[in-house]
Amino acid sequence: MSIESIDNIKFQTAIGLEVHMELLTETKMYCSCKNTFGERENAVICPVCAGYPGILPSMNKRAVELAVRAGLALNCKINRSFKMSRKNYFYPDLPKAYQISQFFAPICTNGFLEIKGKKYPISDIHLEEDAGKLYENGVDFNRSGIPLIELVTEPCFHSAAEAMVFLKELRLITMYLGVSDCRIEQGSMRCDVNVSVNRIGEPCGERCELKNVSGFSNVYDGILYEEIRQKTLISEGCRVLRETRRWDPEKKESVLLRSKENTADYRYFDDPDFPEIILTEEFVQDIFSKLPMLPNKKRSYYASLGVSIQAAEDIILDPQKDSIFCDCIRMDICGAKTLSGLINGIAAEFLNEAPNYLNEINKEGFCLALCKIGRLREKGAVSSTSAKLLFESHIKGGGDIDLLLKELKLEQISDSEYIEKLAERVLAENRKSVEDYRRGKTNALAFLVGQCMRLSDGKADPSLCKEAVLKRIVYENI
Ligand code: ADP
Ligand code: ZN
Ligand code: MG
Repeated sequence: MSIESIDNIKFQTAIGLEVHMELLTETKMYCSCKNTFGERENAVICPVCAGYPGILPSMNKRAVELAVRAGLALNCKINRSFKMSRKNYFYPDLPKAYQISQFFAPICTNGFLEIKGKKYPISDIHLEEDAGKLYENGVDFNRSGIPLIELVTEPCFHSAAEAMVFLKELRLITMYLGVSDCRIEQGSMRCDVNVSVNRIGEPCGERCELKNVSGFSNVYDGILYEEIRQKTLISEGCRVLRETRRWDPEKKESVLLRSKENTADYRYFDDPDFPEIILTEEFVQDIFSKLPMLPNKKRSYYASLGVSIQAAEDIILDPQKDSIFCDCIRMDICGAKTLSGLINGIAAEFLNEAPNYLNEINKEGFCLALCKIGRLREKGAVSSTSAKLLFESHIKGGGDIDLLLKELKLEQISDSEYIEKLAERVLAENRKSVEDYRRGKTNALAFLVGQCMRLSDGKADPSLCKEAVLKRIVYENI
């Protein structure tokens, strides 16, 4: 067979993800050890999670609730009766030599996540436990037995970018619901990434699995690398083999771990330590009724009010900001876009310094102040610098925003005579910038407006200053 250049062949990629997310429970999956991170090695273990012979694990109810919560949010069918399975394999980080997982009947099946009108199918979500962690001197079992859900998608993504959008949306939802903290850097969200390529018109290709990739950029780089590696193999007339590979983030390449094990190798069977687990209608309904408006819906709602997507996500993922935003919107004093700017700006800055400041009593006043400042901004009555000063002095000493504005003489100046004078003076004092502007250096204009702001102690209306400066430069020319 002749070697074709990969540029001349039209390929198509299929990607399926298996996403592991640690659950935000108090305790581990099958014992009462704490579910924590960052402790001294092997400080949080007991006979159950250290895999002593003769142990009897028991199910963490909260983990089941969180899995159901995720399943409901992702449009899954919740199986009312399921069993736990033993997945058998030998590896030093797995002291029992089997992982308690789910195989025959996962807790959630057949869901989807809809993004921009496209539904990405989720085959199942199953419950399982994490394994220990290998390090130079041995194994740390602190992570052993931490509850996980593994979410498996169909091979429905056709590019690294598409897989990335899915992962980010999934992260937004599971974090928002308190299912997982999805701390990628701490490994609480990790992915197995399955990639195959085929010539267009031919059936799906053989896939390789990149095991245990953490970090979005590694998933992205890994997919791109596999696409090129597999396309090259095919164009050289070779076969892609079913393999499990490891992504090396430093060298930015994937390396062979093993030829893929078959399901049969795991010798799955029902774990006799667990009876059949039955979820009552009441249990599932209760979780369903407590499901809040999902962040993707919320985001579109906020966007419909004029808030940008990024600002909306910043608010939604911070319960304190979100609650301030909702209260402010209800006050109906200023627009949502202005509010989002103030909440992600001056309010966030303040609350970062004083995270426990807000309480039942002062929250209303806090929100009212933000709204009133927002209205002043919309009317063009204060500059952003003055808005910040106003907010700070309100927090320090209380007082009504409108009164403070007068007291502190922070009103924005829109008086045209004053602004004309200001522009005249700035132009006279900054001839070089005027020349620069004429020669096409457009940012000289921003400098000149900045000088007007400085001379007016930040109180002049910047858009009027800009107008006045521009008008003068043009007139001078005539
Ligand atoms: P297995 O049981 O052998 O691990 P699954 O059918 O459970 O296989 O699939 C595991 C993952 O591999 C899923 O995320 C699935 O979407 C993905 N996958 C299956 N076939 C392909 C393919 N041809 N290309 C890319 N990914 C695939
Ligand atoms: Zn334990
Ligand atoms: Mg896997």
